[in-house]
Amino acid sequence: MNKTVKEIHEKRSILYDSSIANHAQYIDKTTGLFSEKFVKSRNCPVCQNNDYLKIFTKEGGVYVKCRVCTMVYLNPIFTDSALTSYYMNNHAIQSDIVENDQEF
Ligand SMILES: [Zn+2]
Repeated sequence: MNKTVKEIHEKRSILYDSSIANHAQYIDKTTGLFSEKFVKSRNCPVCQNNDYLKIFTKEGGVYVKCRVCTMVYLNPIFTDSALTSYYMNNHAIQSDIVENDQEF
């Protein structure tokens, strides 16, 4: 049985909404940033210094610029366990949707 474009679009919308909902679970609603329990700070991934300037936030993440080498990077970043949880939840949702879209 072939799916209509509309049916496929609706599935994709569910996938998108689920992905956004998964992401939102990691954000502290009072700060708009990733909750402290899920993240850890890090040094510059290029030069290893810890001297940076906060430049902007996006979807819960804080982006900083290294004052030594000018690298722009996300800081803090997810802990290993939070990152695993994040992608396992997202993958479970995606695999369900993709399986339903195989004809497409
Ligand atoms: Zn640097």
